[in-house]
Amino acid sequence: MDWTFTDEQKLIRQTTRTFVQNEISPYVLEWEREGKVPDAVYQKMADQGIFGAPFPEALGGAGLDYLSYIVMTEELAKGCSSIRTTLSVHTSLCGMTILQAGSEEQKKEWIPQLADWTKQGAWALTEPGSGSDAASLRTSAERDGDSYVLNGRKLWISNGAKADYVVVFARVNEWDPKKKHEGITAFLVEKGTPGFEGGTVWTQEKLGLRSSPTAELILKDCRVPVANRIGAEGEGWDIIRAILLNGRISVAAGAVGIAQAALDASLDYAQTREQFGRPIADFQMVQDLLSTMATGVEAGRALVYKAAALKMAGEDYRLAVAQAKLFTAEMVVRVTRDAVQVHGGAGFSQEYPVERYFRDSIICGIYEGTNQIQKIIIARHLLGKED
Ligand SMILES: Cc1cc2nc3c(=O)[nH]c(=O)nc-3n(C[C@H](O)[C@H](O)[C@H](O)COP(=O)(O)OP(=O)(O)OC[C@H]3O[C@@H](n4cnc5c(N)ncnc54)[C@H](O)[C@@H]3O)c2cc1C
Repeated sequence: MDWTFTDEQKLIRQTTRTFVQNEISPYVLEWEREGKVPDAVYQKMADQGIFGAPFPEALGGAGLDYLSYIVMTEELAKGCSSIRTTLSVHTSLCGMTILQAGSEEQKKEWIPQLADWTKQGAWALTEPGSGSDAASLRTSAERDGDSYVLNGRKLWISNGAKADYVVVFARVNEWDPKKKHEGITAFLVEKGTPGFEGGTVWTQEKLGLRSSPTAELILKDCRVPVANRIGAEGEGWDIIRAILLNGRISVAAGAVGIAQAALDASLDYAQTREQFGRPIADFQMVQDLLSTMATGVEAGRALVYKAAALKMAGEDYRLAVAQAKLFTAEMVVRVTRDAVQVHGGAGFSQEYPVERYFRDSIICGIYEGTNQIQKIIIARHLLGKED
């Protein structure tokens, strides 16, 4: 299916696909074993305009429409989910927070540097005590003259160990469970700021995303200039809700990319592997697996593109995003598990990429809001309880 792509969107998809085939796929296993993607690869992505894809040209971006960016995201996930994760936290979360909520001065100063990868971005919401219940975050920000003093700990921050610019959410009010959504405020904390330290970093010790460093970040009397506050005091919760929509479309597009890659690998394998004197693709039970996988991928893709189309049209896309995120996160686990099944014993080893696709599928239902949280959001919309 070719959706209703413009010629430009088709070209973007093909260019990204070729980049993934030549520059990512042949090396990804090596990077996963080393626990990192070489900087040179990220620089090549920057040179292709990928990190600035949805930012306006006036701010150094490529000025692409959101569907084009999502298609790029999907293609990159076929090659390496760790790279897709970095793109998401750098562009969809960090960059888009500045673009959607920052002042004109902040946009002019920070966005061009993110667009060309001069500076790397991350987005720090989660804490040891607040994951799904993100509004319970305890990191504090106390105003002191021309700065805020931040104290707290952030956990599981993708690209956190490397990022130059980290969007950090902290509260300016005293902790009060009845007012937990109030007082949350966004700050841009720069690498090297005294009191801003890295803690544990997880790479290969994770089930998946092994070339994506996931970091603990510690803020200890960390003084951040008032000029680095994004939006007003207390606007943080609205910013989080708006920006997570960008991140969730990215995860959903990534899930479609992984699932498509798993399907493609399974189609190849099923037509070459012979048992009982014929390709296993001749067996109807294998065909059942393949057709169910293909249908799941297409259904997921349609939901993701619908969410992107609604965003581009300026319509309310919150329900569409939650549905796309939930469906694709569940679909990619089923499809990659079936891909391992189609490969038999070979699928259980790293000789074939489906083993990695299966491991990388699981995180899609965890980060940027778990499957259960998406169900809660969907139900709230259905029941008219979402404001
Ligand atoms: C590899 C990786 C990268 C990450 N990157 C980032 C990042 O860059 N920035 C960032 O801020 N965070 C990041 N995260 C954190 C991620 O967003 C959280 O892990 C996620 O939101 C879930 O929070 P939690 O782990 O605390 O789980 P919990 O919130 O403790 O949830 C545990 C279980 O309880 C369920 N649950 C919780 N509340 C409810 C409820 N009300 N109803 C039903 N079920 C419920 C959940 O669905 C889940 O199944 C990352 C995590 C990982 C593993």
